[in-house]
Amino acid sequence: MSQSAEYDLSRLLSLLKTGEQRIVDWQSALTATRALPPEHGGEGEFAKAAWLEELLQSFGITDCRRFDAIDNRVSSGLRPNIVCRIPGQSQKTLWIFSHMDVVGAGDLNAWSSDPWKVRRQGDLLYGRGVEDNQQGIVSSLLLAHALMSLKITPSQTLGLVFMADEECGNHYGLDYLLKTAPELFSDNDCYVVPDFGQPGADVIEVAEKTTLWLKVTTTGQQCHASTPEKGRNAFVAASAMVLALHKELPALFPQNDRLFSPPHSTFVPSRHEPNAQAINILPGSDTFYLDCRILPAISPQSVLAAVTQLVQKTACDFGVEVTISVENEQKASSMDPCHPHVLDLQKAIAAVYGTKARVGGVGGGTVAALLRDRGLPAMVWACLLNTCHSPDEHASISAIQNDSCVFAHLLMHAYA
Ligand SMILES: [Zn+2]
Repeated sequence: MSQSAEYDLSRLLSLLKTGEQRIVDWQSALTATRALPPEHGGEGEFAKAAWLEELLQSFGITDCRRFDAIDNRVSSGLRPNIVCRIPGQSQKTLWIFSHMDVVGAGDLNAWSSDPWKVRRQGDLLYGRGVEDNQQGIVSSLLLAHALMSLKITPSQTLGLVFMADEECGNHYGLDYLLKTAPELFSDNDCYVVPDFGQPGADVIEVAEKTTLWLKVTTTGQQCHASTPEKGRNAFVAASAMVLALHKELPALFPQNDRLFSPPHSTFVPSRHEPNAQAINILPGSDTFYLDCRILPAISPQSVLAAVTQLVQKTACDFGVEVTISVENEQKASSMDPCHPHVLDLQKAIAAVYGTKARVGGVGGGTVAALLRDRGLPAMVWACLLNTCHSPDEHASISAIQNDSCVFAHLLMHAYA
């Protein structure tokens, strides 16, 4: 790195380390916008996007574009996506992707305070969305603010993407953006998605398992519970299916891949729909769901075939009918764990957190899968406490600051 770039990096890092009040203020404003998707009874990301645009303009950023998907379920009719750039000496861009939407607060009694009003306790901020994904929003905003206020032209261009609709399928979010403006993104650019990570900042996610969600509907014959011989109990048959799947699937797919945590495929009977309306009704129908996270080496079709065979055999034993449908399928994605950008990120993490981050794979899904699907090498990393979607969701102020310092190192490309 040239002397002037080194000097600029040190100025950036000093300013980023004074960002505490900005983090508190921005987290508070972002949380108050309640960017709930229509699926969770909300108005989407419109207010949050307007607030972000105004802030970016106040930094003096001029290259800020909106890509709004039409969605008539929200009163604005729009699901906004923001792409903002700070030009560098090179066209090569460090892209940081964060999503604006949040999930609902859930049981309010489980929260220690109002989820939509940020509460500070020492280094921690509590509120819905402060971790998922406002930690990414705020750490990338801090870097943009520091570059603009110090009038630094970075070695690479910085690109920030703030997306809609991550929690409910990305249809109005990154998927829409990649279809509408694919020319924004180039193979040579560096992609970071700060939407998964460990408290030690020591895991870079480079691979995701296939997600396969199955719905299993069993049909028997309803009758009065006092005369079970007149009916065929769908709930009992479905329970036997659940136990068969739980026991047999891990044995049928025992493969291990040590990149992933856990290293094997997982098959979890999860949701169960209400069946009979009263205790004295023998249920004639039953619906449950199976959440499968499948290693890339295993075809989802082979899992579907095995599930079908197991539930049909059980249905036969119990004299009921069964149907299976695919509710969601997101195929496995990965990037080369030895990609030069991974090495750059490892060095940046080591410089800030003093730790050697390892590469890993997970069963969870992020927008990195959509980028990887288009051949763009996306890394998922942040220093997170993993409280997302829970009551009392919280994020660490110092981790947000340190994450922005890691992005600063990566942007100034200290290791080229
Ligand atoms: Zn998220």
